Amino acid sequence: MTALPLVFDAPRRGLPPRHIADMSAEERRAAVAELGEKPFRANQLSHHYFARLTADPALMTDIPAASRDRLADGLLPPLLSVVRHLSCDDDSTRKTLWRAHDGTLLESVLMRYPDRVTLCVSSQAGCGMACPFCATGQGGLQRNLSTAEIVDQVRAAAAAMRDGELGEPGRLSNIVFMGMGEPLANYRRVVDAVHRICDPAPGGLGISQRSVTVSTVGLAPAIRKLADERLQVRLAVSLHTPDDELRDTLVPVNTRWSVDDVLEAARYYADTSGRRVSIEYALIRDVNDQPWRADLLAKRLRQHLAQLVHVNVIPLNPTPGSKWDAAPKPVEREFVRRVNAGGVACTVRDTRGQEIAAACGQLAAEG
Ligand code: SAH
Repeated sequence: MTALPLVFDAPRRGLPPRHIADMSAEERRAAVAELGEKPFRANQLSHHYFARLTADPALMTDIPAASRDRLADGLLPPLLSVVRHLSCDDDSTRKTLWRAHDGTLLESVLMRYPDRVTLCVSSQAGCGMACPFCATGQGGLQRNLSTAEIVDQVRAAAAAMRDGELGEPGRLSNIVFMGMGEPLANYRRVVDAVHRICDPAPGGLGISQRSVTVSTVGLAPAIRKLADERLQVRLAVSLHTPDDELRDTLVPVNTRWSVDDVLEAARYYADTSGRRVSIEYALIRDVNDQPWRADLLAKRLRQHLAQLVHVNVIPLNPTPGSKWDAAPKPVEREFVRRVNAGGVACTVRDTRGQEIAAACGQLAAEG
């Protein structure tokens, strides 16, 4: 396998024109006024988009036609269209392939559980972090997504749940930034998207910050910056091994910010937010599944995070052309047992969407 370069700066091409979901309530009022419309039209637009969950100007019939056209042209550019939906797990999991205005493809995955409904969103088209076991990482970075392109994945999923497209009508309750891309490499747009997703309706989609998880490869300075935003979102760190030697190859950005750097930043996040940090650990046969690594993982996590941590073990989903496979179940059980015995809470994450290439790390947006 040839190593890909790390890419932090996305190409500037392709971002869509501004959309109301890019803006704060104040910015929306200013933008409406700029178009020569009364400020209260901003509230009408917000109500349609964030409360009624519609992005189609034709349905906004309480706005006079002339105003509606002006507002639509200026503030509601088409963002994402469905290329296809794929369902599995008895229709409780649905992957959507989206096409953006410039032809860029991206994916999101909606998962229905007995007690919650979770959407896995993309923050970039592709990813520049080059993790060798991840399908998105192996495809490279196409571009950042705009705030509105992130928010619109959520709006569409909330509408789908309300309309009973995944069985009985329900409510979208949780968001995980675990789709395509490295959220902290598209920092400002992701933080703005969190505000739009969590602001109370009709100013935003009204999902609790505590039900949002931002997952990162471990960009330590950006983790600290996120902590200073004083949000209530959960942080997940994709650690995958406790030692720098192996992590330099599994998560190449480790050559910039080591395991210690990342765990110190995670501790700062836990201290400022008061929330436990999740550690993601994709278990790979004969690569990172040894008993000694489980012991070392527990030791280092206890040192850095004490009780403010929980480990999610994810059975590796082999990606096309990869030489790696998931650890055998007995090895996985022993790994989890040792981490728990070492004083750190550890469980296995169930992985949905296997047959539709929608499981962790499989998103590759094949048109
Ligand atoms: N870039 C962010 C978020 C996207 S990936 C991050 O890395 O955290 C979401 C999670 O899926 C990460 O923990 C990632 O390491 C994991 N993952 C990627 N490829 C995987 C695979 N093939 N099998 C299992 N987990 C995988």
